[in-house]
Amino acid sequence: MTSKAFLAALEGAKKRGNGLILIAAHCRPDGDAVSSVVSAAAILRDAGYNAVGILPEPLPDSCLPFVPEDLIVRSSAGLNPELFLILDCSNPERIAADGFEPSCPVINIDHHPDNSQKAELSLVRPECCATAEVLYHFFTDCGFAITPENATRLLLGILTDSGCFRFDNTSPEALESAAALIRLGADRSRIVLEAFSNRDPGLVRLEAELLNNHLQMAFNGRAAWIVLTPELLQKYGVEVRNTETLIDAVRNIRGVEIAALLRDEPDGYKLSLRSKNARYSAGRIARRLNGGGHEMAAGGYIYAANAEEAGEILTKQIQLEFDAL
Ligand code: 5GP
Ligand code: MN
Repeated sequence: MTSKAFLAALEGAKKRGNGLILIAAHCRPDGDAVSSVVSAAAILRDAGYNAVGILPEPLPDSCLPFVPEDLIVRSSAGLNPELFLILDCSNPERIAADGFEPSCPVINIDHHPDNSQKAELSLVRPECCATAEVLYHFFTDCGFAITPENATRLLLGILTDSGCFRFDNTSPEALESAAALIRLGADRSRIVLEAFSNRDPGLVRLEAELLNNHLQMAFNGRAAWIVLTPELLQKYGVEVRNTETLIDAVRNIRGVEIAALLRDEPDGYKLSLRSKNARYSAGRIARRLNGGGHEMAAGGYIYAANAEEAGEILTKQIQLEFDAL
């Protein structure tokens, strides 16, 4: 998609009916999803369009300080947008828009390499560390102004999806995008204080218990995983929406090359997967386990009756990956 085509689509929407542009991202939103929805809504509004974000699910606490209520709606009821913008969402099943079925043109902007959305216009840039980075460049090309507030929102997405520049998607371009946003007035220290150095004590204690009592290892410690149960969540008063960073504790263990987190669900386990070694693809394993994602960070679903069975299915798939070379 060129900026010219995007601007023409925005102008087209503006001239039709209520002119509303609805902006959605993926289910179980993370920092990049929230950042993308909120910054796109704000930047398009500043540019004179009638834009609103939709975030139907409860958001991670770490994102809440960056989400002004007047920029988003929780439900799609009664909305009749003229344009639907899907951000940071690789496939149609993962769109979080409260069941909204678009009868208007659809635009897809993302950085997932396996993006399979059907849209009139599409911009997928897997070389970008975050959809927020795609948006920063694209909105700049479109000639839109980026205020310090919106620069902060965009930087939030870059920092979350790059793990504060620890992950392999930290390219020179990602660092340059962040530098440009900081020059535009992005408040980096506010993001660090409010989104990262602000963990709930219950979550920290849950992490300690998971590592102390529930850490599983295989292949001489080259693979490790933890299983998150409703009982543990309840014991520490932690909600699923705030558990996204738990997998980092497993990834950070010396010797671990593949890290996983399994979360108990009614007919199996939601899988989060990370690779620390570029020779092994978390994305490939996840695609074999009903999911997908990036090479080094991916997710899927394991159908299993209990955690033991899920662990066996997972180790089998990890074995295939280790053996492939
Ligand atoms: P997380 O483990 O943080 O939920 O997800 C890591 C990455 O994998 C994200 O880029 C996310 O979009 C992708 N991902 C997670 N779960 C799924 C899934 O079920 N299907 C697909 N296609 N991608 C997923
Ligand atoms: Mn993302």
